[in-house]
Amino acid sequence: MKKITDLKLDGKKVLIRCDFNVPIKNGKIVDDNRIKESLKTINYCLDKHCKIILLSHLGRIKEKADLEKNSLAIVAKRLSKLLNKEVIFVDQTRGEKLEKAVEALSEGEILLVQNTRYEDLDGKKESSNNKELGKYWASLGDVFINDAFGTIHRAHASNVGIASNIESAIGFLVEKELNALSCLNSPEKPFIVVLGGAKVKDKIGVIKNLITKADYILIGGGMAFTFLQSEGYDVGNSIVDHDSIDFCNEMISKYPNKIVLPVDINVTSEYSNETPNQIKDITEISSDEMGLDIGPKTVKIYKKYLKNAKTVVWNGPLGVYELSKYKKSTKQILKYLVDNHIKTILGGGDIVAAAKNYKDEIYHASTGGGATLEYLEGKKLPGLEVLK
Ligand code: AMP
Repeated sequence: MKKITDLKLDGKKVLIRCDFNVPIKNGKIVDDNRIKESLKTINYCLDKHCKIILLSHLGRIKEKADLEKNSLAIVAKRLSKLLNKEVIFVDQTRGEKLEKAVEALSEGEILLVQNTRYEDLDGKKESSNNKELGKYWASLGDVFINDAFGTIHRAHASNVGIASNIESAIGFLVEKELNALSCLNSPEKPFIVVLGGAKVKDKIGVIKNLITKADYILIGGGMAFTFLQSEGYDVGNSIVDHDSIDFCNEMISKYPNKIVLPVDINVTSEYSNETPNQIKDITEISSDEMGLDIGPKTVKIYKKYLKNAKTVVWNGPLGVYELSKYKKSTKQILKYLVDNHIKTILGGGDIVAAAKNYKDEIYHASTGGGATLEYLEGKKLPGLEVLK
């Protein structure tokens, strides 16, 4: 697989697939980390006097009403500010306007194409890797750099499609992500996996793949209740993934000393910051209560497990991170890992957002939650396979 540094880029028309899928609220970008992470590759191409054509998706496009709120115009502005340089924005994903703008590019100029998923409105052309679309985008450039780790686990026209047609390589961000994750192939031990988030179903592949490698898997978040119910506990109104109960049961029977479950829970009666909450032992949850975070005893126990860890990988928050009252355990464990300089890899939007203030201290915070999960499941990533 080629890296950006393996390509002769001087003066060429370079297509770069970036991941500009940033969170936007009330018309404002709330976190521009992904844009910042793309700068190294863009600046490298600027140094090589390339004509730069950037592609990215933003959100999902299912109907016409999704178009305007997912326009990349807002990203073009932010990118221009970060680079201190004009970014030409073309409000088209194909057509004469785009082709003329590409033709008019001078060396060292940057053009951003409209959201690649605008093509999904017409038969999901981007997301189903429509052959003709990939070929068309490839025709706009001389070489292709895939620097969008967030979509590397998908075969889309803007990554696999383009790469199937012209000389291609990975960019600096994808290289950084892969380097960090590769330490998990033979992790320094003790190796501990922390898993939270809503559903067991989404993490079955990760659990199956990591259970033999990991010394412990510490379970939190909504997932914990499916495990607890499978052990016969009454979890009240807590979220339970009924289809996964047998799987949880099997894992606990096979690996009773590896799967670690909470012993206390922060419960309330409604999914809200407003309703009163209390800490309860897992044997005491009543039928009208739901657990929205793990409790302080559990945090203490999990810290003990983590104390000697040499490698930690963490996916999914340990409580409902959207509600300020239930962020506590996630924040505490994160701080513990940072304070104790434990080599930690974070994957997944919520947990990476939670670690925003520790950017320099955390070993690696991935820009791609889904991609990291599939990597951890041991799956092949189509965006990379095509480059091999
Ligand atoms: P995931 O995308 O699977 O990592 O899940 C993240 C989601 O899990 C977040 O939206 C959290 O609100 C949710 N979550 C975490 N803990 C709980 C819980 N105890 N009950 C319900 N949802 C939870």
